[in-house]
Amino acid sequence: MKSIIVIVIMMSLGPCSTRTFIKKDFFNYPYNKVYDYYVIEAWRDLGETLPAYTPEMVERHSRLIGKLPWVSPVPSADKMMVIGMTPGWPKNSAYPDDPEIPPQKIFGYQITDPGSEGHKLKIILTSGNHATEFTGNWVLEGMVNFIAGDDPEAKFLRQKAIFYVYPDVNPEGRYQAVHRINLQVAPDPNAGTDMRKRGNPELYAAGEGDHNRIWNTRGKFSTIDVITGSMMKDMGGEADYMWDMHGPQTTGNWRTPSDEARTNAYARALLKREPDIVRCGPESGFKVNVAKGPEGKIGLYVLSGEGQRVKYPYVYEPGGWSRERLMESGRNIALAFYDILR
Ligand SMILES: [Zn+2]
Repeated sequence: MKSIIVIVIMMSLGPCSTRTFIKKDFFNYPYNKVYDYYVIEAWRDLGETLPAYTPEMVERHSRLIGKLPWVSPVPSADKMMVIGMTPGWPKNSAYPDDPEIPPQKIFGYQITDPGSEGHKLKIILTSGNHATEFTGNWVLEGMVNFIAGDDPEAKFLRQKAIFYVYPDVNPEGRYQAVHRINLQVAPDPNAGTDMRKRGNPELYAAGEGDHNRIWNTRGKFSTIDVITGSMMKDMGGEADYMWDMHGPQTTGNWRTPSDEARTNAYARALLKREPDIVRCGPESGFKVNVAKGPEGKIGLYVLSGEGQRVKYPYVYEPGGWSRERLMESGRNIALAFYDILR
């Protein structure tokens, strides 16, 4: 394991202009390309299972990153960076065809220079809200690899900010998506539309279909309670920025329910770093009202100050790009923070 970490650091030693900042297939995951939502949907007609961003990959990446001296469990996590478990789905004799779903670990870790004092920006990173949206996890992985790496900008960021990373906020939904499980006892209420696989068995059993519409509930869903409880403990209910990674969408875009967050210095820095990714809202005329919508989205929940308060919450919906491009965009999201902090 030690040699692997050294390679991570060495790989990021190159000039910051280098596009390939991490060796191809370095983590040796069982994939060779990014499969987007539409490909996943196509699974239903395919004989063989295609690779995806699995809960095992979330665990493996978290553990690997967690070996670095500036990465540690969030305060609410145990030594293994686990903040809680999903309930899983036991065998039910009334539905003999339904498989058992094992409880899934929910991870949380933080990245910061433990030797630097003073005020630090609190930045939350989440992905996996929507079970089939693997692209978000590639963006998050690219961002984390950069922040945890040895570029001077990354070292600077670790001195000026704490990144609280919850890499998969809906791991049981992801497990279900990866294994193509539709429980008869808890069917996805959105099945039959293009909205499938946005929840998990616990939600479906309660008649809910979308993990990004229930963040304002309490005492109803395990993942929501675990993660909101952790965030409260980890950040005292206050943070500066949040990125919730989703996607893909055409056109690749980012959005926020906050008018200020849409036009602040960070937003302007990001537009320079990633000019191809459209900012939703009146400035671009793209998806002008998309940030509004039903309460219970994580961005609206944290903006409302209902138990948590994040000043600038963002949602990322990248295009259906290659893994390398997704990871590069994660790096650029991090570099935009460098631009406003330096
Ligand atoms: Zn989504």
